[in-house]
Amino acid sequence: MKAFGQLWQQVSGMLIPPSCVVCDALLPPQEPVGICGNCYPTLPQWDWAQTSPPPLPKHVDSFWAPFVYEPPINDLIVRLKFADHSQLATVLAKFLCAAPVPTSALLMPVPLHQQRLRKRLYNQAAELARQWVKLQPRQLELTALKRIRPTRPQTGQSAAARKRNLAGAFSADEALVSGKDIILLDDVWTTGSTAGTCARMLKQAGANRVDVVTVAYVAP
Ligand SMILES: [Zn+2]
Repeated sequence: MKAFGQLWQQVSGMLIPPSCVVCDALLPPQEPVGICGNCYPTLPQWDWAQTSPPPLPKHVDSFWAPFVYEPPINDLIVRLKFADHSQLATVLAKFLCAAPVPTSALLMPVPLHQQRLRKRLYNQAAELARQWVKLQPRQLELTALKRIRPTRPQTGQSAAARKRNLAGAFSADEALVSGKDIILLDDVWTTGSTAGTCARMLKQAGANRVDVVTVAYVAP
């Protein structure tokens, strides 16, 4: 809680949402995180002593998330994906600032395919990344990793089916990636298959390290 408390202070003075993103209660100006004092203690922070981290896919060097995928964070992430993205991305990005990843690494959101981007109008991972670099200076790289084949939504699929679904879905630009340390950002880690597939493409294109950060971890 201490690190998050310091974060509250760090981000004070930024544009603040007028009401709590969880319960809609009006926020006093001295609550800059965008979550009220009643909801804040209910956030499902990921405690490794209680929920052990998943086995990492071969090309993923580390994985970190501030939360486990439980209420109210799971609801916020669904809303971030399908509805009111800008305010929520700002609020959730504040928690990413505590990620144990080097500031020199390239920050890359997991891309959406153009077809889905056109339907949904924005990529929630890219929105999180844009807000994160506003809070902490980092190099944002939005073009090096591309989704070259549309894929079915992963929800409800087995790990093996996810892997098949993702095969050949991504490409990485060697000129932009080679020799670089990369932070791969997504909203949620479920089976790690998306992160693992992206990391494989990035390493094949010469990336030095791939550290994965998500807002929440779906514990099995
Ligand atoms: Zn609240």
